[in-house]
Amino acid sequence: MYENKKILILGMARSGYAASILLSNKNNEIIVTDSKDQDETKIKELETLNIKFLKTSTPEDILDESFDLIIKNPAVFPSHPCIIKGNNLDIPVVNEMEVAYHFLPQNVKIIGVTGSNGKTTTTTLIYETLKKAHEEVTLGGNIGTPLSELINKNLIKPNSYLLLEISDHQLMDFHDFKTDISILTNLCPTHLDYHGSYETYKNVKKKIFNHHDNKDIAILNTKNPDSIDLTKDIQSTKYYFNDAYNYYTDTAIFINKEEVLKTKDIILKGEHNYENILALLVLLKNLNIAFKYAQEVLKTFKGVEHRLEFVKEINGVKYYNDSKSTNPTSTITALKSFKSNIHLILGGMNRNQEFTDLIPYLNRVTKIYAIGEVRELIYKFCATNKVPCEKYEFLKDALKSAHHNAQKGDIVLLSPGSASWDQYAKFEDRGTEFKDIINTCF
Ligand code: ADP
Repeated sequence: MYENKKILILGMARSGYAASILLSNKNNEIIVTDSKDQDETKIKELETLNIKFLKTSTPEDILDESFDLIIKNPAVFPSHPCIIKGNNLDIPVVNEMEVAYHFLPQNVKIIGVTGSNGKTTTTTLIYETLKKAHEEVTLGGNIGTPLSELINKNLIKPNSYLLLEISDHQLMDFHDFKTDISILTNLCPTHLDYHGSYETYKNVKKKIFNHHDNKDIAILNTKNPDSIDLTKDIQSTKYYFNDAYNYYTDTAIFINKEEVLKTKDIILKGEHNYENILALLVLLKNLNIAFKYAQEVLKTFKGVEHRLEFVKEINGVKYYNDSKSTNPTSTITALKSFKSNIHLILGGMNRNQEFTDLIPYLNRVTKIYAIGEVRELIYKFCATNKVPCEKYEFLKDALKSAHHNAQKGDIVLLSPGSASWDQYAKFEDRGTEFKDIINTCF
């Protein structure tokens, strides 16, 4: 099906590069375009495979009816002029995961994880647990290695599990792709600039259940009415978490009303993470894999890096890195994870963000350390709401002060509720700096 074709790959990056290699040597004529410069060595490698690379910000100029297929990078908006032109010319648009799906070995059981929040954490938990249980499993998709690359490198074995984190941007251009088990963590309005409306976004998410029949499995979150509503008419056999059988309390996590884990034996904090764990346990039950492997993983798993990641305990003070929090809603999720005594480092790029939604949770906060470009705004917000606040331009000064002030039993939490781009190239750099200071200076 992907032979003797003229193909435009829109956006090179790692996935476009891998897809072009996957489709080389099948008598295809392939042109890869990107608006940015790409690695010279990779371009040379593509040339040896007869694949052309073209740097252009107007790829639509070369698109005409002679093309059979467009492979779109998930980051490219569906409203891109090249996609519009492709649609007008009736040229099918797919993405690399859809293409690679057709090259999978026999009998691979695909587990797909999607949702508005919690994808990476849930996927990572599943991966670590399956490995602990000595299952043959390959991890990929939105979380790291593109599926085409996994296939090019022959990393997926027949009769194994393929675990994929799948974003809405990837689901968008799925046609034949089908999972065996799909987990939808939750849904809330997000990425609306990309999809145009919440309705469209939800219907794209629904594609994770495409082509399912009752032999396929859907794992769904009962507490999230939008997920339940969206999946009313899917054909999958449905299993639920956050219902009367599979749920959490302050002290434990229950499956089929039986206690499986005590929360004191889990390093991960926060009810949102208990939901991610529930999704994992419901999956294990379906796969007939013992819960003891999850118990072992959760005893040591500190969280995915930069997502409410436990860093260290020093003199009874616990330090958490939640640098991935780039808007106040994420900071609320972090604040809900601790009952009191939080020294909160908040701030970053100034987008005139509203911090008022934090008000119901401020009684858990001992002090706020306002940082970055938005610090004055936070300082005023704290004055209005009578929360003690110190302001610093830089993270390192705020952290040193928090370290100095925090007493035994307190929490020092970096959950900035702001983008990092006022001072950092990416949120990962901000979180790494936070951890480096804790690990080297205190
Ligand atoms: P994603 O991959 O969907 O972005 P992550 O697992 O990377 O999700 O978590 C990103 C942030 O989303 C976390 O720092 C936390 O604030 C929030 N989060 C994680 N899991 C959930 C959940 N199940 N429900 C709500 N929010 C969550």
